Amino acid sequence: LPRLPILEAVSGHNPSSTAVVHAKSGRSFTYGELLGDVGKARDRLKEAWGGKDGNGERVAFLVENSYDYVVTLLACLAARSIAVPLSPAFPAPELQYILNQSEASLLLSSAKFATKAEQVLETELSSKPTHVALPKHQGGGPNTGAITWDESGPGEAGLMLYTSGTTNRPKGVLLPQATLTAQCQSLLRAWSYTPSDHLLHVLPLHHIHGTVNALLTPLLAGSTIEFLFPFNADAVWSRLAAPFLPMNGHPIPSDKITFFTVVPTVYSRLIATYKLMSPQMQQAASAAVSPENMRLSISGSAALPTPIKSAWRTLSKGNVLLERYGMTEVGMALSCGLDPADRVDASVGWPLPSVQARLVDVDTNEIIREGEEIDPETGKERSGEIQLRGPTIFQEYWRNPAATASEFVEGEDGQGKWFKTGDVAVRRPVPSAAQSQDWTKGPLYFIQGRKSADIIKTGGEKVSALEVERELLSLDEVAEAAVVSVPSGKWGQKVGCVIVLDKDFAQQWKPMDMRRALRDRLANYKIPQVMKIVDEIPRNAMGKINKKLLVQVTFKDEHS
Ligand code: ATP
Repeated sequence: LPRLPILEAVSGHNPSSTAVVHAKSGRSFTYGELLGDVGKARDRLKEAWGGKDGNGERVAFLVENSYDYVVTLLACLAARSIAVPLSPAFPAPELQYILNQSEASLLLSSAKFATKAEQVLETELSSKPTHVALPKHQGGGPNTGAITWDESGPGEAGLMLYTSGTTNRPKGVLLPQATLTAQCQSLLRAWSYTPSDHLLHVLPLHHIHGTVNALLTPLLAGSTIEFLFPFNADAVWSRLAAPFLPMNGHPIPSDKITFFTVVPTVYSRLIATYKLMSPQMQQAASAAVSPENMRLSISGSAALPTPIKSAWRTLSKGNVLLERYGMTEVGMALSCGLDPADRVDASVGWPLPSVQARLVDVDTNEIIREGEEIDPETGKERSGEIQLRGPTIFQEYWRNPAATASEFVEGEDGQGKWFKTGDVAVRRPVPSAAQSQDWTKGPLYFIQGRKSADIIKTGGEKVSALEVERELLSLDEVAEAAVVSVPSGKWGQKVGCVIVLDKDFAQQWKPMDMRRALRDRLANYKIPQVMKIVDEIPRNAMGKINKKLLVQVTFKDEHS
């Protein structure tokens, strides 16, 4: 493999094909322009190091989702430094934490965030990075001179993403470019990105989903990435539907979107907005997301509620959402297949190409091998922690050897260490209709949730919060639900739920109504013992709930 395969691939694409589009202005940039601008930006970075390579230096940057972001990220890789993308939405103390923790030597900022960068630099920092205000990359015309990538440089290029901190203080996950490339190549094989794919990108870019799945892999494939950020359901529908409306308005570019990868809350908001649209707009919107036009719509980063999957299927005239599972430390690990018959409800599919996965019994530490998914004594399903290894898995938390050591376990076959994801799953046999590709083999994985927050031990029984949430969400009365573990003197833990009511179906709902509704759907011990109705469940930028905080806030008076 060449040492910088993503950059090699970008330089090999047709220079006149479109790499990046800004949805709002309609401005587009070709691969040729991108290559030229990356070369210039790399040289500017190298100037900061006296003409030398970055040699593994960390380069933090504050840049909006745009062509400039793509140029900056690729330039960091080309200069053999480690890119540390920062979220402009973070408050100063969080940015300060990341700058300190990553020991960034440079802080780049676009014009839009220059003041924000200055503000952070005024806070107390263990070592102050040099601030570089970036010029706007206007696409500068096609690249004239060939860019040569220096293969021999000593420093390792890479990307460092911080975990979202829903379970702990954010940790820096170091993804050397070889790991990034392996992640992209695995996705490329599984989801077949092509140069004719056109993605609509509505996600934050300091997370693995927005960066690897929706940016680096399409760049590797030569696809077009169109930015429309921050997410806004009306704007997304307008863009999706534009090529399908009788009078195609301007300046919205009219190319149809073929590829869409977002989090479940985005689908949920799109569905809600769709219901309010005019019949003409609905018709165009449905055509835009139909399987003939949008060849792949993917959901991940949090569990996909089945009602969202069904509603999307209906409004799109048959587009079955493909669910996948991943995390910052591993990129994508499990995914359903390209054949819609492979997308079994509530399942996240199979280990992706080059990913090795196993389940390890949380109580006994025994490996649950294929065929051993049912406990012969109790007849019950055995759940286990997902452990992963292979070239797509990260190797270290930045400057945190203790965390790194505790998250890996030695393999007994001497073939390398396994990463303990902290997520629990079960495996079930594949329905006969599925099984379409070489890597979609063996039993299917179903995520039960996080060991630390979603597996509730109540009176000796284990309950998966995700399973209970799934049932709650399938009720008309429930718009949103989070199932949590509430401390209990009597049971150790008890199952609690926090609910947002669907205003169309319920103005009021008592715990008794909830229990009655779940009676035929769940075993008695799985039915929440306590319930709180709220107006909103707080979520982070990726639609995730911080359950620890939610329990503290919502159930602070609960003591039994
Ligand atoms: P932190 O480690 O700081 O808490 P985080 O885990 O929220 O941050 P990510 O790496 O972005 O940060 O999220 C990965 C987690 O998201 C997984 O460990 C898993 O719990 C959850 N997840 C991802 N995809 C799915 C899915 N399809 N179904 C259920 N859960 C999912």
